[in-house]
Amino acid sequence: MFLNRREMELRKVRFEETFQPGEIEFFDQKLWQAGPLSTAGSAELLPNTNGEIRVRGSLEVLMECECDRCLEVAQFPLKLSFDLFYEPVEEGPADAEVALEAEDSTIDFYQGEGLVLEDVLREQVLLALPMRRICREDCKGICPVCGQNRNRGDCGCKPVILDDRWAALREL
Ligand SMILES: [Zn+2]
Ligand SMILES: [Zn+2]
Repeated sequence: MFLNRREMELRKVRFEETFQPGEIEFFDQKLWQAGPLSTAGSAELLPNTNGEIRVRGSLEVLMECECDRCLEVAQFPLKLSFDLFYEPVEEGPADAEVALEAEDSTIDFYQGEGLVLEDVLREQVLLALPMRRICREDCKGICPVCGQNRNRGDCGCKPVILDDRWAALREL
């Protein structure tokens, strides 16, 4: 859904949408939507600014990904609200730099006639996911010796303490 700045000049644009899995691209094969993403909110052009857009709303979705430790499915039910501000940038190479410099500030930018709601939602979902994506806090991961998922039981392998590089050093 395109949030059009021209429409916002006339009124606040409200949205209430449901996106099925696949409709929002996450650009990560190890991360996917496990159910519909529902969202509702509004976008408005702020008065007395040079075209700043405020997007407010909430979203709810069940995300799934590959567990970083055991490679099984890890689930992340997300329910969050957002209140975001976007400033316009003119197109052109000089402004690409401006956008880069502002990367760690809280203000985002939009280019052209407005914002794509799907882009806003993707960013919020990615921000809400933890850095370490594991299926559960105490996930035991995969045994480096035999490859068994250690959450399913102890394979009995002895832990490998020294790897080959250390073995080579010892011989010196
Ligand atoms: Zn795991
Ligand atoms: Zn093992």
